[in-house]
Amino acid sequence: MTSVVNPTSLTGKTCLITGATRGIGLAAARLFAQNGAQVVLVGRNADELAQRAAEINDTCGAEVAASFTCDVSDDAAVKDLFQAVFKRYKRLDVLLANAGVLDDALLGMVNRAQIERVFGANTFGLIYCAQYASRLMARSGGGSIINIASIIGTNGNAGQAVYGGSKAAVLGITKSLAKELAPGQIRVNAIAPGFIDTAMTQGLPEAKFAERMDSIAMGRIGTPEDVARTALFLASDLSTYVTGQCIGVDGGMLI
Ligand code: NAP
Repeated sequence: MTSVVNPTSLTGKTCLITGATRGIGLAAARLFAQNGAQVVLVGRNADELAQRAAEINDTCGAEVAASFTCDVSDDAAVKDLFQAVFKRYKRLDVLLANAGVLDDALLGMVNRAQIERVFGANTFGLIYCAQYASRLMARSGGGSIINIASIIGTNGNAGQAVYGGSKAAVLGITKSLAKELAPGQIRVNAIAPGFIDTAMTQGLPEAKFAERMDSIAMGRIGTPEDVARTALFLASDLSTYVTGQCIGVDGGMLI
């Protein structure tokens, strides 16, 4: 009798997820753990992260989740993070570079601190993580890097030049790294979510929220789980020959 291999299984894989305290990152951490992965939750709030990791372990009935505190915009902290991960797991198979911040302003109001903060988390942090993650992945023969971009990075939006720029950069980084890392069997892809129901969008003014909702062809806001399922596809053996792509998860958003 031939054994049936589950292609979505992440059993034996160590998956690091930045921005895993809530929203899309937490949904992915839960889904990856349910599919057999060891999950490494990363964010800036130690207590919250530890709580989320404990909840995942309780649900799975095993020690499958751990938390590490790190501000991804701090390159020295990112180096320490990946050293600690290597010390504990001796391997890394998947990086979901999801940590990000939104800080909108019309051009006249944009200031340097805001640009540095947004690019620091959304763009610089993503490069730092890819740099150290790819070294660990190379040691075990390959891996998958998944970068969270945004529909604002692909299509732009008034009042979002800084955020849109930081996310457009993610696409160039993804395609370049896909070419650079492919010989080492490291796949690099991006996901561009549309309008997803998380703390990030819950803070929008009512009129803006309604305007975004009207632009979604499927007529509903996305859930963090909608994005997490696409991340599972890119993390798993369902996507073994997919690299350098950006997958929109936006319910047909017409922005
Ligand atoms: P969220 O609920 O606000 O979660 C953001 C996560 O990132 C939190 O866990 C936060 O944790 C972490 N984070 C922020 N800055 C960080 C830093 N410097 N270092 C480490 N962790 C940091 O937002 P979300 O909606 O889930 O967003 C996740 C990703 O999807 C972001 O990259 C966002 O730009 C992107 N996205 C979201 C939407 C949407 O509609 N929600 C659409 C397109 C793209 P702490 O603050 O505790 O550190």
